[in-house]
Amino acid sequence: MNLSTHLERPVFKAVASAAAELGAPAYVIGGYVRDLFLKRASKDIDFVTVGDGILLAGKVARAFRGHHPVSVFRNFGTAMFHLDEMQLEFVGARKESYHPDSRKPDVLPGTLEDDQRRRDFTINALAISLNPENYGEVIDPFNGLDDLEAGIIRTPLDPGITFSDDPLRMMRAIRFATQLKFAIHPETFKAIAENKARISIISGERISEELNKIIMTSKPSDGFRLLDECGLLTLIFPQFVALKGAETVDGKGHKDNFYHTLEVLDRIAPNTGNLWLRWAALLHDIGKPPTRRFVPELGWTFHGHDARGARMVPQIFRQLRLPLNEKMKYVQKLVALHLRPIGLTEEEVTDSAVRRLLFEAGDDIDDLMTLCEADITSKNREKVQRYLRNFAIVREKLREIEEKDRLRNWQPPVSGEMIMKAFNLSPGREVGLIKNAIREAILDGALENDREKAYAFMLEEGKRHGLIPAKDNA
Ligand code: ATP
Repeated sequence: MNLSTHLERPVFKAVASAAAELGAPAYVIGGYVRDLFLKRASKDIDFVTVGDGILLAGKVARAFRGHHPVSVFRNFGTAMFHLDEMQLEFVGARKESYHPDSRKPDVLPGTLEDDQRRRDFTINALAISLNPENYGEVIDPFNGLDDLEAGIIRTPLDPGITFSDDPLRMMRAIRFATQLKFAIHPETFKAIAENKARISIISGERISEELNKIIMTSKPSDGFRLLDECGLLTLIFPQFVALKGAETVDGKGHKDNFYHTLEVLDRIAPNTGNLWLRWAALLHDIGKPPTRRFVPELGWTFHGHDARGARMVPQIFRQLRLPLNEKMKYVQKLVALHLRPIGLTEEEVTDSAVRRLLFEAGDDIDDLMTLCEADITSKNREKVQRYLRNFAIVREKLREIEEKDRLRNWQPPVSGEMIMKAFNLSPGREVGLIKNAIREAILDGALENDREKAYAFMLEEGKRHGLIPAKDNA
């Protein structure tokens, strides 16, 4: 759709006539305009008016049929409402001045250009007029259109001041560069490196919101390389930078786990839109630096890095203000189990080993396999093909055993209650022992996953522990 047809849409016409009635010029501005030129779909539209944004929002909302409740944020001088799928946001044009210890500026009414000047990047400072004298004209005082064309992220003003004023913009620069596959202008990038320490005034939530957006791009490694290169990464996520390096001792080296992990993340990206599975890819080897040892006969080892890595996950989630809920447990589980499917690629794999993995991974078994497949980063194509074939066989084994034994969401066929009733027991050690014995027998394949058989097994097991069934006792 070309620009003038686009601007015929009722939403723009409505804003234009409300603004004309109020005698306050209005413009579309920011990400929506950028995305329009990039032909990216966008549902958030920002309007700026040289006047009162809240007043304009109310007037536009009333111009449409139906009830469109307007949310007003008086502190910020903004108002927004939803129209169909769209979210419309209105703000009065403003000038900003910053204090060194905060990213929240003092705000004064200003001109359109003042408002464009406070925007983070030239490509985000583009405005389109909705006013009768120049409806549809692009107002681009910082050559944002040229930067869009050339694929450049650059600040409208002195980048040092821009980043020092609001250090979140450093994360945004790298996020946009990664999402749009743009380059960061050298002076802008240099200013990020110089101002990186200012990131300390930004909340963890804001930082991880940008990090998550980088992780969700089609090639997240681009963002991580930039974060590393400017020095931000070591400030926000030092455990990840610790993966760097490939030391050689006695002619024996090991791969650089930092670049390996980034490759795994890129490799998993086309196969999943699940942010947390991507986090599991990012963290799967995080336990390697603290477990790294050089053993003369063996070379480098990372024994226990799976369990160690899983134990590191909560601290990392806390530090990055990521949710400490079942998402974290899911990531922890995948990190803990990421080596297990490799064990199942050997010739002689017992059903019991497959059953145990199914039991432990539960519904996350497919995600675990997706992670393991992404983890193959060998440069040897023949090797990659062979490993992938082996994993295809593992998937098949998993499918067969699951069909037979239904262990994915295993619930004990005999509950603790039933055990207590059967032997007239109160809760205690014996109940746990019998429950474990039943589970182990099923996982070993000695007992079928069947209620009646498990009940009979339980009676035998109880007797072995010297317990007398309640009915024999009566
Ligand atoms: P996305 O929706 O992908 O995050 P966006 O550009 O629409 O992209 P928003 O965060 O919604 O991002 O911001 C809307 C506009 O507000 C931006 O295009 C930019 O002009 C301005 N903006 C947002 N955050 C900042 C900031 N920290 N500093 C300066 N300007 C900003």
